[in-house]
Amino acid sequence: MLNCLVLGQVQLLMKIRPGLLIEMLVKMKRRPKPRWVKNLALKRIITLFKLAEENKYSHPERARRYIELARKISKKYTVKIPSKLKKKFCKNCNTFFTAENVKIRKIRRKNALLIVCLTCNKKTLRRAN
Ligand SMILES: [Zn+2]
Repeated sequence: MLNCLVLGQVQLLMKIRPGLLIEMLVKMKRRPKPRWVKNLALKRIITLFKLAEENKYSHPERARRYIELARKISKKYTVKIPSKLKKKFCKNCNTFFTAENVKIRKIRRKNALLIVCLTCNKKTLRRAN
């Protein structure tokens, strides 16, 4: 009943101003995030990585969750994860790399590093510099 009423009102509005729906959609379009929001997001990412670093040996599962959250924040607020931190986890399973769960080999021919995550066996190539 209520739904029907709302629908009727919308139809009435559409008759009066046909461009209204498009205007509303344009207004709803995402605006770029302000700089202070991005700074805050970056700060949070860094703290989450710090927490993951602290917990990587004692609670690896927790560290994985921290990295998952940090990546979610970076996605939502379109903030890049600093390149220093980007090297510290597996992009496939979000595991924080320790001395035990990663194998790194240098491929001189390609001037690259082969990184093998021993948790999910994902192989990634990274340029060595
Ligand atoms: Zn992995």
